[in-house]
Amino acid sequence: MEKPPLSLNARLIQRTEVSPGLLILQAAPDGWTLPEFRPGQYTVLGLPGSAPRCVAADSEANGDGENGEDGRTTHRDPVKIIRRAYSISSSSVGREYLEFYVMLVRSGELTPRLFALNVGDPLLMGPKITGMFTLDSVPDDQHIVLFATGTGLAPYMSMIRTSLAENRHRRVAVVHGAYHSWDLGYRAELTTLARVCPHLTYVPLISDPDHEPAPWKGQTGFCQDVWKSRAIDADWGFRPSKENTHIFLCGHPGMIQGMLELLTEDGFEPHSRKSPGQIHLEKYW
Ligand SMILES: Cc1cc2nc3c(=O)[nH]c(=O)nc-3n(C[C@H](O)[C@H](O)[C@H](O)COP(=O)(O)OP(=O)(O)OC[C@H]3O[C@@H](n4cnc5c(N)ncnc54)[C@H](O)[C@@H]3O)c2cc1C
Repeated sequence: MEKPPLSLNARLIQRTEVSPGLLILQAAPDGWTLPEFRPGQYTVLGLPGSAPRCVAADSEANGDGENGEDGRTTHRDPVKIIRRAYSISSSSVGREYLEFYVMLVRSGELTPRLFALNVGDPLLMGPKITGMFTLDSVPDDQHIVLFATGTGLAPYMSMIRTSLAENRHRRVAVVHGAYHSWDLGYRAELTTLARVCPHLTYVPLISDPDHEPAPWKGQTGFCQDVWKSRAIDADWGFRPSKENTHIFLCGHPGMIQGMLELLTEDGFEPHSRKSPGQIHLEKYW
Protein backbone atom coordinates (compact mmCIF):
# COMPACT_ATOMS: atom_id res chain seq x y z
CA MET A 1 0.00 0.00 0.00
CA GLU A 2 1.34 3.47 -0.91
CA LYS A 3 2.63 5.50 2.06
CA PRO A 4 0.24 8.43 2.78
CA PRO A 5 1.40 11.93 3.83
CA LEU A 6 2.22 12.07 7.56
CA SER A 7 -0.89 14.10 8.45
CA LEU A 8 -3.12 11.32 7.05
CA ASN A 9 -2.66 9.24 10.18
CA ALA A 10 -5.55 6.78 9.88
CA ARG A 11 -7.09 4.31 7.42
CA LEU A 12 -10.69 3.67 6.56
CA ILE A 13 -11.42 0.10 7.65
CA GLN A 14 -15.14 -0.06 6.93
CA ARG A 15 -17.77 1.98 5.08
CA THR A 16 -21.46 1.11 5.38
CA GLU A 17 -23.96 2.98 3.25
CA VAL A 18 -27.15 3.52 5.24
CA SER A 19 -28.80 5.34 2.30
CA PRO A 20 -27.32 7.38 -0.60
CA GLY A 21 -26.54 10.40 1.63
CA LEU A 22 -25.65 8.63 4.88
CA LEU A 23 -22.53 6.67 5.73
CA ILE A 24 -21.21 4.84 8.76
CA LEU A 25 -17.40 5.03 8.63
CA GLN A 26 -14.86 3.19 10.75
CA ALA A 27 -11.28 4.48 10.84
CA ALA A 28 -8.29 2.93 12.60
CA PRO A 29 -5.14 4.80 13.67
CA ASP A 30 -2.11 4.08 11.51
CA GLY A 31 0.81 3.46 13.91
CA TRP A 32 -0.51 5.28 17.00
CA THR A 33 -2.86 4.49 19.87
CA LEU A 34 -6.29 6.02 20.33
CA PRO A 35 -6.61 8.03 23.55
CA GLU A 36 -9.28 7.33 26.15
CA PHE A 37 -12.53 9.19 25.56
CA ARG A 38 -15.97 9.57 27.06
CA PRO A 39 -19.11 8.59 25.14
CA GLY A 40 -20.61 11.68 23.47
CA GLN A 41 -17.28 13.28 22.59
CA TYR A 42 -15.98 14.13 19.13
CA THR A 43 -12.80 14.43 17.14
CA VAL A 44 -11.89 15.79 13.70
CA LEU A 45 -11.67 14.00 10.39
CA GLY A 46 -9.81 15.54 7.48
CA LEU A 47 -8.71 15.11 3.88
CA PRO A 48 -6.61 17.26 1.55
CA GLY A 49 -8.20 19.45 -1.10
CA SER A 50 -6.73 17.14 -3.71
CA ALA A 51 -8.90 14.22 -2.52
CA PRO A 52 -11.65 13.42 -5.05
CA ARG A 53 -15.28 14.29 -4.40
CA CYS A 54 -18.01 11.66 -4.70
CA VAL A 55 -20.11 11.66 -7.87
CA ALA A 56 -23.30 12.70 -6.03
CA ALA A 57 -21.72 15.94 -4.78
CA ASP A 58 -22.05 19.37 -6.35
CA SER A 59 -18.85 20.46 -8.05
CA GLU A 60 -16.85 23.18 -6.34
CA ALA A 61 -17.58 25.47 -9.28
CA ASN A 62 -17.40 28.64 -7.26
CA GLY A 63 -14.57 30.22 -9.19
CA ASP A 64 -11.99 28.75 -6.81
CA GLY A 65 -11.78 25.31 -8.35
CA GLU A 66 -9.97 23.81 -11.30
CA ASN A 67 -11.21 20.90 -13.36
CA GLY A 68 -9.53 17.67 -12.34
CA GLU A 69 -8.64 14.92 -14.81
CA ASP A 70 -11.91 13.11 -14.16
CA GLY A 71 -13.87 16.25 -15.05
CA ARG A 72 -14.93 16.90 -11.43
CA THR A 73 -13.81 20.16 -9.88
CA THR A 74 -10.98 20.01 -7.37
CA HIS A 75 -10.27 22.21 -4.37
CA ARG A 76 -8.21 25.36 -4.87
CA ASP A 77 -5.51 24.32 -2.41
CA PRO A 78 -4.73 20.63 -3.02
CA VAL A 79 -2.39 20.33 -0.01
CA LYS A 80 -4.43 22.04 2.71
CA ILE A 81 -6.27 19.56 4.93
CA ILE A 82 -10.00 20.25 5.24
CA ARG A 83 -11.02 19.38 8.82
CA ARG A 84 -14.44 19.02 10.42
CA ALA A 85 -15.71 17.78 13.79
CA TYR A 86 -17.53 14.41 14.05
CA SER A 87 -19.14 12.77 17.06
CA ILE A 88 -17.88 9.28 17.76
CA SER A 89 -20.57 6.60 17.54
CA SER A 90 -18.47 3.63 18.68
CA SER A 91 -18.12 2.44 22.25
CA SER A 92 -15.31 3.93 24.32
CA VAL A 93 -14.50 0.46 25.66
CA GLY A 94 -12.83 -1.21 22.68
CA ARG A 95 -10.47 1.33 21.14
CA GLU A 96 -9.11 -0.34 17.96
CA TYR A 97 -11.04 2.06 15.73
CA LEU A 98 -13.50 4.94 15.88
CA GLU A 99 -16.86 4.92 14.15
CA PHE A 100 -18.68 7.95 12.72
CA TYR A 101 -22.14 8.54 11.24
CA VAL A 102 -21.85 11.13 8.48
CA MET A 103 -24.38 12.95 6.29
CA LEU A 104 -23.42 14.09 2.80
CA VAL A 105 -23.66 17.88 2.39
CA ARG A 106 -23.58 17.95 -1.43
CA SER A 107 -22.18 21.48 -1.56
CA GLY A 108 -19.86 20.86 1.39
CA GLU A 109 -16.08 20.83 1.40
CA LEU A 110 -15.29 17.68 3.38
CA THR A 111 -18.26 15.29 3.28
CA PRO A 112 -18.15 14.77 -0.54
CA ARG A 113 -14.51 13.72 -0.09
CA LEU A 114 -15.31 11.39 2.86
CA PHE A 115 -18.04 9.77 0.73
CA ALA A 116 -15.50 9.09 -2.05
CA LEU A 117 -13.23 7.10 0.30
CA ASN A 118 -12.76 3.37 -0.15
CA VAL A 119 -11.69 0.84 2.46
CA GLY A 120 -7.92 1.14 2.98
CA ASP A 121 -7.74 4.82 1.98
CA PRO A 122 -5.83 7.20 4.30
CA LEU A 123 -7.45 10.12 6.12
CA LEU A 124 -6.72 12.40 9.04
CA MET A 125 -8.28 11.43 12.38
CA GLY A 126 -7.63 13.89 15.18
CA PRO A 127 -5.67 12.28 18.03
CA LYS A 128 -7.38 14.70 20.45
CA ILE A 129 -10.90 13.70 21.48
CA THR A 130 -12.93 16.36 23.22
CA GLY A 131 -16.41 17.72 24.05
CA MET A 132 -18.78 18.33 26.95
CA PHE A 133 -21.82 16.53 25.49
CA THR A 134 -21.39 13.55 27.81
CA LEU A 135 -23.20 11.82 30.65
CA ASP A 136 -20.63 13.08 33.18
CA SER A 137 -22.96 15.60 34.82
CA VAL A 138 -25.99 13.29 34.95
CA PRO A 139 -26.48 11.72 38.39
CA ASP A 140 -26.81 7.91 38.31
CA ASP A 141 -30.37 7.99 39.62
CA GLN A 142 -31.66 10.23 36.82
CA HIS A 143 -33.48 8.90 33.75
CA ILE A 144 -32.37 10.02 30.29
CA VAL A 145 -34.16 11.00 27.07
CA LEU A 146 -31.96 11.31 23.98
CA PHE A 147 -33.50 13.27 21.07
CA ALA A 148 -31.72 13.17 17.69
CA THR A 149 -32.37 14.01 14.10
CA GLY A 150 -30.23 12.46 11.35
CA THR A 151 -26.59 11.95 12.27
CA GLY A 152 -27.26 13.58 15.65
CA LEU A 153 -27.75 9.97 16.78
CA ALA A 154 -23.97 9.34 16.67
CA PRO A 155 -23.05 10.45 20.22
CA TYR A 156 -25.98 8.49 21.66
CA MET A 157 -24.81 5.29 19.93
CA SER A 158 -21.53 5.66 21.78
CA MET A 159 -23.34 6.25 25.10
CA ILE A 160 -25.73 3.31 24.56
CA ARG A 161 -23.02 0.95 23.34
CA THR A 162 -20.69 1.87 26.22
CA SER A 163 -22.94 1.74 29.24
CA LEU A 164 -26.55 2.83 28.89
CA ALA A 165 -27.72 -0.55 27.67
CA GLU A 166 -26.32 -2.11 30.87
CA ASN A 167 -27.48 0.23 33.65
CA ARG A 168 -30.89 -1.21 34.40
CA HIS A 169 -31.59 1.20 37.27
CA ARG A 170 -32.47 4.09 35.00
CA ARG A 171 -34.89 4.44 32.09
CA VAL A 172 -33.37 5.54 28.80
CA ALA A 173 -35.39 6.63 25.77
CA VAL A 174 -33.86 7.39 22.39
CA VAL A 175 -36.02 9.27 19.90
CA HIS A 176 -34.53 9.33 16.39
CA GLY A 177 -36.13 11.43 13.66
CA ALA A 178 -35.49 11.26 9.90
CA TYR A 179 -37.45 12.02 6.73
CA HIS A 180 -37.80 8.38 5.67
CA SER A 181 -37.51 4.99 7.34
CA TRP A 182 -34.50 4.14 5.14
CA ASP A 183 -32.61 7.11 6.66
CA LEU A 184 -32.91 5.67 10.18
CA GLY A 185 -29.33 4.47 10.64
CA TYR A 186 -28.69 1.98 13.46
CA ARG A 187 -32.39 1.03 13.48
CA ALA A 188 -31.75 -2.72 13.55
CA GLU A 189 -29.24 -2.40 16.43
CA LEU A 190 -31.50 -0.13 18.49
CA THR A 191 -34.58 -2.28 17.84
CA THR A 192 -32.69 -5.35 19.05
CA LEU A 193 -31.26 -3.56 22.10
CA ALA A 194 -34.70 -2.25 23.08
CA ARG A 195 -36.08 -5.78 22.76
CA VAL A 196 -33.48 -7.29 25.10
CA CYS A 197 -33.16 -4.30 27.50
CA PRO A 198 -36.59 -3.53 28.99
CA HIS A 199 -35.31 -0.24 30.45
CA LEU A 200 -34.40 1.06 26.94
CA THR A 201 -37.11 2.68 24.81
CA TYR A 202 -36.46 3.28 21.10
CA VAL A 203 -38.77 5.61 19.19
CA PRO A 204 -37.97 5.74 15.44
CA LEU A 205 -39.80 8.65 13.89
CA ILE A 206 -40.30 9.75 10.27
CA SER A 207 -41.62 13.04 8.93
CA ASP A 208 -42.55 11.93 5.39
CA PRO A 209 -44.69 8.78 5.79
CA ASP A 210 -46.45 9.21 2.40
CA HIS A 211 -43.43 7.95 0.45
CA GLU A 212 -42.75 4.74 2.37
CA PRO A 213 -42.50 1.51 0.34
CA ALA A 214 -44.57 -0.29 3.00
CA PRO A 215 -47.07 1.34 5.39
CA TRP A 216 -45.19 2.93 8.34
CA LYS A 217 -46.64 1.79 11.66
CA GLY A 218 -44.40 3.88 13.92
CA GLN A 219 -44.45 7.49 15.05
CA THR A 220 -44.64 10.31 12.49
CA GLY A 221 -43.81 14.00 12.66
CA PHE A 222 -41.02 15.63 14.64
CA CYS A 223 -39.29 15.14 17.99
CA GLN A 224 -41.47 17.92 19.40
CA ASP A 225 -44.57 15.86 18.50
CA VAL A 226 -43.23 12.85 20.41
CA TRP A 227 -42.68 15.00 23.50
CA LYS A 228 -46.14 16.60 23.21
CA SER A 229 -47.87 13.24 22.58
CA ARG A 230 -46.49 11.93 25.90
CA ALA A 231 -45.43 8.70 24.16
CA ILE A 232 -42.46 8.37 26.53
CA ASP A 233 -44.67 8.82 29.62
CA ALA A 234 -46.91 6.04 28.33
CA ASP A 235 -43.95 3.69 27.90
CA TRP A 236 -42.25 4.58 31.20
CA GLY A 237 -45.41 4.78 33.27
CA PHE A 238 -44.48 8.23 34.58
CA ARG A 239 -43.87 11.72 33.23
CA PRO A 240 -40.20 12.66 32.71
CA SER A 241 -39.71 15.83 34.75
CA LYS A 242 -36.82 18.10 35.73
CA GLU A 243 -36.71 16.26 39.06
CA ASN A 244 -36.14 12.80 37.56
CA THR A 245 -34.81 13.15 33.99
CA HIS A 246 -32.01 14.70 31.93
CA ILE A 247 -32.68 15.46 28.25
CA PHE A 248 -30.13 15.45 25.42
CA LEU A 249 -30.69 17.22 22.08
CA CYS A 250 -28.50 16.75 18.99
CA GLY A 251 -29.12 17.37 15.32
CA HIS A 252 -31.11 19.86 13.25
CA PRO A 253 -31.03 23.41 14.71
CA GLY A 254 -34.83 23.66 14.24
CA MET A 255 -35.37 20.57 16.40
CA ILE A 256 -33.01 21.87 19.08
CA GLN A 257 -34.77 25.25 19.20
CA GLY A 258 -38.26 23.71 19.15
CA MET A 259 -37.41 21.23 21.89
CA LEU A 260 -35.74 23.91 24.02
CA GLU A 261 -38.93 25.95 23.96
CA LEU A 262 -41.14 22.99 24.92
CA LEU A 263 -38.80 21.77 27.65
CA THR A 264 -38.36 25.18 29.27
CA GLU A 265 -42.16 25.54 29.34
CA ASP A 266 -42.14 22.24 31.28
CA GLY A 267 -39.61 23.56 33.79
CA PHE A 268 -36.39 21.97 32.45
CA GLU A 269 -33.32 24.20 32.43
CA PRO A 270 -30.35 24.28 30.01
CA HIS A 271 -27.18 22.82 31.47
CA SER A 272 -23.86 24.66 31.56
CA ARG A 273 -20.76 24.31 33.70
CA LYS A 274 -21.67 27.45 35.65
CA SER A 275 -25.36 26.73 35.87
CA PRO A 276 -26.26 23.02 36.11
CA GLY A 277 -29.54 22.04 34.46
CA GLN A 278 -31.22 19.08 32.80
CA ILE A 279 -31.05 20.02 29.08
CA HIS A 280 -27.80 19.12 27.29
CA LEU A 281 -27.31 20.08 23.65
CA GLU A 282 -24.84 19.69 20.80
CA LYS A 283 -25.12 21.92 17.73
CA TYR A 284 -23.60 20.55 14.50
CA TRP A 285 -24.20 23.78 12.59
C1 LIG B 1 -19.21 18.99 17.73
C2 LIG B 1 -19.66 18.62 16.34
C3 LIG B 1 -19.94 17.30 16.02
C4 LIG B 1 -20.37 16.96 14.75
N1 LIG B 1 -20.67 15.65 14.49
C5 LIG B 1 -21.17 15.31 13.27
C6 LIG B 1 -21.56 13.95 13.00
O1 LIG B 1 -21.45 13.06 13.85
N2 LIG B 1 -22.05 13.68 11.76
C7 LIG B 1 -22.19 14.63 10.79
O2 LIG B 1 -22.65 14.31 9.67
N3 LIG B 1 -21.84 15.92 11.03
C8 LIG B 1 -21.32 16.27 12.22
N4 LIG B 1 -20.95 17.57 12.46
C9 LIG B 1 -20.96 18.52 11.33
C10 LIG B 1 -19.61 18.43 10.59
O3 LIG B 1 -18.58 18.97 11.42
C11 LIG B 1 -19.60 19.23 9.28
O4 LIG B 1 -20.04 20.53 9.52
C12 LIG B 1 -20.51 18.60 8.21
O5 LIG B 1 -20.11 17.26 7.96
C13 LIG B 1 -20.43 19.39 6.90
O6 LIG B 1 -19.09 19.46 6.47
P1 LIG B 1 -18.74 19.88 4.98
O7 LIG B 1 -17.30 20.29 4.96
O8 LIG B 1 -19.15 18.84 4.00
O9 LIG B 1 -19.68 21.13 4.73
P2 LIG B 1 -19.23 22.69 4.81
O10 LIG B 1 -18.48 23.07 3.58
O11 LIG B 1 -18.57 22.95 6.11
O12 LIG B 1 -20.67 23.37 4.77
C14 LIG B 1 -21.48 23.28 5.94
C15 LIG B 1 -22.82 23.97 5.70
O13 LIG B 1 -23.75 23.00 5.23
C16 LIG B 1 -24.99 23.12 5.88
N5 LIG B 1 -25.38 21.84 6.46
C17 LIG B 1 -26.43 21.10 6.05
N6 LIG B 1 -26.54 19.98 6.73
C18 LIG B 1 -25.52 19.94 7.60
C19 LIG B 1 -25.07 18.99 8.60
N7 LIG B 1 -25.71 17.83 8.83
N8 LIG B 1 -24.01 19.28 9.32
C20 LIG B 1 -23.37 20.45 9.10
N9 LIG B 1 -23.72 21.38 8.17
C21 LIG B 1 -24.79 21.13 7.44
C22 LIG B 1 -24.85 24.23 6.91
O14 LIG B 1 -25.49 25.37 6.36
C23 LIG B 1 -23.38 24.49 7.01
O15 LIG B 1 -23.10 25.84 7.18
C24 LIG B 1 -20.50 17.94 13.74
C25 LIG B 1 -20.23 19.28 14.05
C26 LIG B 1 -19.82 19.61 15.33
C27 LIG B 1 -19.53 21.06 15.64
